[in-house]
Amino acid sequence: MEKIYEGKAKIVYAGPEEGTYRVYYKDDATAFNGAKHGRIEGKGTVNNRISARLFEYLDKHGLQSHFIRMLSERESLVWQVEIVPLEVIIRYRAAGSFSKRYGVPEDTALKAPLVEFSLKSDALSDPLITEDAAVALSIATREEVVTLRRQALEIGTLLREFFATRGLILIDLKLEFGRKDGKILLADEISPDTMRLWRKDTHEKMDKDRFRRDLGGVEEAYQEVLRLVLEKV
Ligand code: C5P
Repeated sequence: MEKIYEGKAKIVYAGPEEGTYRVYYKDDATAFNGAKHGRIEGKGTVNNRISARLFEYLDKHGLQSHFIRMLSERESLVWQVEIVPLEVIIRYRAAGSFSKRYGVPEDTALKAPLVEFSLKSDALSDPLITEDAAVALSIATREEVVTLRRQALEIGTLLREFFATRGLILIDLKLEFGRKDGKILLADEISPDTMRLWRKDTHEKMDKDRFRRDLGGVEEAYQEVLRLVLEKV
């Protein structure tokens, strides 16, 4: 089938039905804007299944996404959308680039959930972008920016609750959105590649930071998150 786009973690093919894509999740892992390469065995199937479960959960709570259904262990059927080239990051506790940027220790609580936008650009290393700059550069309209922020906070709140009941703390996450029929729709994936998840009791890292920081036990952490996500609570 026709390949539409190959990214660092997924390949997008034309879908079997009009207006759809088939997304194939790879085991490849990259970090630091592609400077670090590796493989996480089984990651493709784990991230496909975690994303599917989370998209279904959000849908049940009134937040639609591009997700239609899983096609196989590694593939999902999604609606075609025009991706808005912004990464929408929601933070609940300081970590990663936020801690580095402001010199704040990781795990510092934030007074309120924080939304940040980054411009999706490998050439520029995804720089932080203000809402005004995104509007000024016609990357999104003012109305879209407002919608992105509102939806991101709603999604974050729902996911925080979801993970809290499964013994995990959602520290931060990155979302991407697309346009479909003039509406903004959640797209991409939601997985340990795109979120920081820590065990509630021990604060053990259960996400891609294990790969980024060479902490070991990467595959095991991803499998454990899948197990917890599929748990009936
Ligand atoms: O690195 P940083 O602290 O800005 O990452 C914030 C959150 O966004 C993390 O959960 C990280 O996994 C995610 N992220 C991502 N893709 C990027 C940058 C960050 O999924 N390109």
